[in-house]
Amino acid sequence: MNIVLLGAPGAGKGTQAQLLVEWLSVPHVASGDLFRENLRNKTELGLEARRYMDGGDLVPDRVTIGMVVERLSRPDCEAGVTLDGFPRTVTQAQALERVLAERGKAVDLVLYIKVSDDTLLKRLAGRWTCRGCEVAYHEVYTPPAQEGVCNECGGELYQRPDDTPETQKRRIEVYFEQTSPLIDFYKSRGLLVEIDGELDIGVVQAGLRAAIGEVSGE
Ligand SMILES: [Zn+2]
Repeated sequence: MNIVLLGAPGAGKGTQAQLLVEWLSVPHVASGDLFRENLRNKTELGLEARRYMDGGDLVPDRVTIGMVVERLSRPDCEAGVTLDGFPRTVTQAQALERVLAERGKAVDLVLYIKVSDDTLLKRLAGRWTCRGCEVAYHEVYTPPAQEGVCNECGGELYQRPDDTPETQKRRIEVYFEQTSPLIDFYKSRGLLVEIDGELDIGVVQAGLRAAIGEVSGE
Protein backbone atom coordinates (compact mmCIF):
# COMPACT_ATOMS: atom_id res chain seq x y z
CA MET A 1 0.00 0.00 0.00
CA ASN A 2 1.11 3.51 -0.76
CA ILE A 3 0.07 5.86 2.01
CA VAL A 4 0.46 9.63 2.34
CA LEU A 5 0.49 11.20 5.80
CA LEU A 6 -0.59 14.82 6.16
CA GLY A 7 -0.55 17.06 9.21
CA ALA A 8 0.45 20.57 10.23
CA PRO A 9 3.70 21.22 12.13
CA GLY A 10 2.84 20.25 15.71
CA ALA A 11 0.16 17.72 14.70
CA GLY A 12 2.35 14.80 15.82
CA LYS A 13 2.81 13.43 12.32
CA GLY A 14 6.45 12.37 12.83
CA THR A 15 5.70 10.35 15.96
CA GLN A 16 2.71 8.68 14.35
CA ALA A 17 4.67 7.88 11.19
CA GLN A 18 7.34 6.04 13.22
CA LEU A 19 4.75 3.89 14.98
CA LEU A 20 2.90 3.24 11.76
CA VAL A 21 5.83 2.01 9.69
CA GLU A 22 6.89 -0.40 12.46
CA TRP A 23 3.44 -1.93 12.18
CA LEU A 24 3.22 -1.86 8.39
CA SER A 25 6.86 -2.86 7.80
CA VAL A 26 7.13 -0.70 4.69
CA PRO A 27 9.73 2.04 4.17
CA HIS A 28 9.07 5.38 5.82
CA VAL A 29 9.89 7.90 3.11
CA ALA A 30 10.14 11.21 4.94
CA SER A 31 11.06 14.24 2.87
CA GLY A 32 13.27 15.60 5.66
CA ASP A 33 15.29 12.34 5.88
CA LEU A 34 15.67 12.20 2.10
CA PHE A 35 16.82 15.77 2.07
CA ARG A 36 19.48 15.09 4.70
CA GLU A 37 20.59 11.91 2.96
CA ASN A 38 21.08 13.76 -0.33
CA LEU A 39 22.99 16.58 1.37
CA ARG A 40 25.19 14.14 3.30
CA ASN A 41 25.97 11.99 0.24
CA LYS A 42 26.50 15.11 -1.89
CA THR A 43 24.31 13.75 -4.66
CA GLU A 44 23.63 15.93 -7.65
CA LEU A 45 20.24 16.89 -6.20
CA GLY A 46 21.77 17.41 -2.77
CA LEU A 47 24.38 19.79 -4.13
CA GLU A 48 21.70 21.65 -6.04
CA ALA A 49 19.55 21.94 -2.92
CA ARG A 50 22.56 23.21 -0.98
CA ARG A 51 23.10 26.00 -3.51
CA TYR A 52 19.52 27.23 -3.00
CA MET A 53 19.84 26.98 0.79
CA ASP A 54 23.16 28.85 0.80
CA GLY A 55 21.58 31.55 -1.32
CA GLY A 56 18.77 31.84 1.23
CA ASP A 57 16.21 30.53 -1.24
CA LEU A 58 13.57 27.85 -1.00
CA VAL A 59 14.48 24.56 -2.62
CA PRO A 60 12.25 24.31 -5.71
CA ASP A 61 9.63 21.57 -6.19
CA ARG A 62 11.65 20.05 -9.02
CA VAL A 63 14.56 19.17 -6.72
CA THR A 64 12.32 17.77 -3.98
CA ILE A 65 10.36 15.72 -6.50
CA GLY A 66 13.63 14.39 -7.96
CA MET A 67 14.73 13.14 -4.53
CA VAL A 68 11.41 11.35 -3.96
CA VAL A 69 11.35 9.82 -7.44
CA GLU A 70 14.83 8.41 -6.90
CA ARG A 71 13.83 6.97 -3.51
CA LEU A 72 10.67 5.36 -4.89
CA SER A 73 12.66 3.65 -7.62
CA ARG A 74 14.61 1.57 -5.06
CA PRO A 75 13.51 -2.08 -4.70
CA ASP A 76 12.40 -1.78 -1.06
CA CYS A 77 9.53 0.47 -2.17
CA GLU A 78 8.08 -2.28 -4.36
CA ALA A 79 5.58 -3.44 -1.73
CA GLY A 80 4.54 0.07 -0.74
CA VAL A 81 5.64 3.13 1.21
CA THR A 82 4.47 5.57 3.81
CA LEU A 83 5.17 9.09 2.60
CA ASP A 84 5.66 11.77 5.25
CA GLY A 85 6.17 15.44 4.40
CA PHE A 86 5.65 14.82 0.71
CA PRO A 87 3.65 15.83 -1.26
CA ARG A 88 3.24 19.31 0.14
CA THR A 89 1.75 20.97 -2.91
CA VAL A 90 -0.69 19.93 -5.63
CA THR A 91 2.19 20.04 -8.15
CA GLN A 92 4.08 17.52 -6.04
CA ALA A 93 0.95 15.37 -5.66
CA GLN A 94 0.49 15.29 -9.42
CA ALA A 95 4.14 14.34 -9.90
CA LEU A 96 3.70 11.53 -7.38
CA GLU A 97 0.64 10.26 -9.24
CA ARG A 98 2.61 10.14 -12.49
CA VAL A 99 5.58 8.34 -10.96
CA LEU A 100 3.42 5.72 -9.28
CA ALA A 101 1.29 5.26 -12.42
CA GLU A 102 4.45 4.52 -14.43
CA ARG A 103 4.97 1.58 -12.06
CA GLY A 104 1.32 0.49 -12.24
CA LYS A 105 0.66 1.88 -8.78
CA ALA A 106 -1.26 4.66 -7.10
CA VAL A 107 -1.71 6.40 -3.77
CA ASP A 108 -4.10 4.12 -1.91
CA LEU A 109 -4.88 6.24 1.11
CA VAL A 110 -4.21 9.74 2.48
CA LEU A 111 -4.33 10.04 6.26
CA TYR A 112 -4.78 13.57 7.50
CA ILE A 113 -3.99 14.11 11.19
CA LYS A 114 -6.19 17.02 12.11
CA VAL A 115 -5.45 19.25 15.09
CA SER A 116 -7.12 22.53 16.09
CA ASP A 117 -5.27 25.83 15.76
CA ASP A 118 -5.29 26.27 19.55
CA THR A 119 -3.54 22.95 20.13
CA LEU A 120 -1.01 23.63 17.37
CA LEU A 121 -0.22 27.00 18.93
CA LYS A 122 0.42 25.40 22.32
CA ARG A 123 2.66 22.74 20.81
CA LEU A 124 4.56 25.22 18.63
CA ALA A 125 5.67 27.40 21.54
CA GLY A 126 9.36 26.73 22.14
CA ARG A 127 9.83 25.07 18.80
CA TRP A 128 12.79 25.75 16.50
CA THR A 129 12.92 24.54 12.90
CA CYS A 130 15.85 23.97 10.54
CA ARG A 131 15.78 26.15 7.44
CA GLY A 132 17.40 23.33 5.48
CA CYS A 133 15.97 19.93 6.35
CA GLU A 134 13.01 21.18 8.42
CA VAL A 135 13.81 19.02 11.42
CA ALA A 136 12.13 20.51 14.48
CA TYR A 137 13.71 21.02 17.88
CA HIS A 138 12.12 22.05 21.12
CA GLU A 139 14.10 24.30 23.44
CA VAL A 140 13.07 22.24 26.47
CA TYR A 141 12.32 18.72 25.25
CA THR A 142 14.68 18.19 22.30
CA PRO A 143 17.30 20.96 22.16
CA PRO A 144 20.02 20.83 19.46
CA ALA A 145 23.60 20.05 20.54
CA GLN A 146 24.65 23.56 19.55
CA GLU A 147 22.24 26.42 20.01
CA GLY A 148 20.74 27.58 16.72
CA VAL A 149 22.41 24.89 14.59
CA CYS A 150 20.77 21.76 13.17
CA ASN A 151 22.35 18.49 14.42
CA GLU A 152 21.53 16.77 11.14
CA CYS A 153 22.59 19.13 8.38
CA GLY A 154 24.23 22.15 10.01
CA GLY A 155 21.41 24.41 8.82
CA GLU A 156 20.29 27.48 10.71
CA LEU A 157 17.45 27.03 13.20
CA TYR A 158 14.83 29.70 13.19
CA GLN A 159 12.21 31.04 15.49
CA ARG A 160 11.49 34.67 15.13
CA PRO A 161 12.55 36.57 18.24
CA ASP A 162 9.44 38.73 17.92
CA ASP A 163 7.28 35.62 17.89
CA THR A 164 3.89 36.38 19.36
CA PRO A 165 0.78 34.24 19.43
CA GLU A 166 -0.43 36.43 16.54
CA THR A 167 2.56 35.71 14.27
CA GLN A 168 2.41 32.01 15.14
CA LYS A 169 -1.27 32.03 14.36
CA ARG A 170 -0.52 33.63 11.04
CA ARG A 171 2.05 30.92 10.30
CA ILE A 172 -0.54 28.22 10.94
CA GLU A 173 -2.94 30.08 8.65
CA VAL A 174 -0.28 30.15 5.93
CA TYR A 175 0.27 26.41 6.33
CA PHE A 176 -3.44 25.77 5.87
CA GLU A 177 -3.64 28.15 2.91
CA GLN A 178 -0.90 26.11 1.23
CA THR A 179 -2.23 22.72 2.29
CA SER A 180 -5.97 23.05 1.79
CA PRO A 181 -5.67 22.74 -2.04
CA LEU A 182 -3.77 19.49 -1.43
CA ILE A 183 -6.46 18.27 0.96
CA ASP A 184 -9.15 19.14 -1.60
CA PHE A 185 -7.13 17.37 -4.30
CA TYR A 186 -7.12 14.13 -2.33
CA LYS A 187 -10.72 14.57 -1.15
CA SER A 188 -11.86 14.84 -4.76
CA ARG A 189 -10.13 11.52 -5.44
CA GLY A 190 -11.90 9.89 -2.51
CA LEU A 191 -8.58 9.07 -0.84
CA LEU A 192 -8.65 11.31 2.22
CA VAL A 193 -9.42 10.07 5.73
CA GLU A 194 -9.32 12.54 8.62
CA ILE A 195 -7.99 11.37 11.98
CA ASP A 196 -8.53 13.38 15.16
CA GLY A 197 -5.01 14.35 16.25
CA GLU A 198 -6.13 15.90 19.54
CA LEU A 199 -6.40 12.51 21.23
CA ASP A 200 -3.67 10.50 22.99
CA ILE A 201 -0.82 9.16 20.84
CA GLY A 202 -2.10 5.57 21.17
CA VAL A 203 -5.66 6.48 20.23
CA VAL A 204 -4.51 8.44 17.17
CA GLN A 205 -2.35 5.49 16.12
CA ALA A 206 -5.29 3.08 16.51
CA GLY A 207 -7.38 5.39 14.31
CA LEU A 208 -4.71 5.42 11.61
CA ARG A 209 -4.42 1.61 11.66
CA ALA A 210 -8.19 1.17 11.53
CA ALA A 211 -8.39 3.42 8.45
CA ILE A 212 -5.64 1.40 6.76
CA GLY A 213 -7.34 -1.87 7.68
CA GLU A 214 -10.55 -0.68 6.06
CA VAL A 215 -8.85 0.19 2.79
CA SER A 216 -6.69 -2.93 2.64
CA GLY A 217 -9.67 -5.09 3.55
CA GLU A 218 -7.93 -6.74 6.48
ZN1 LIG B 1 18.76 20.53 9.18
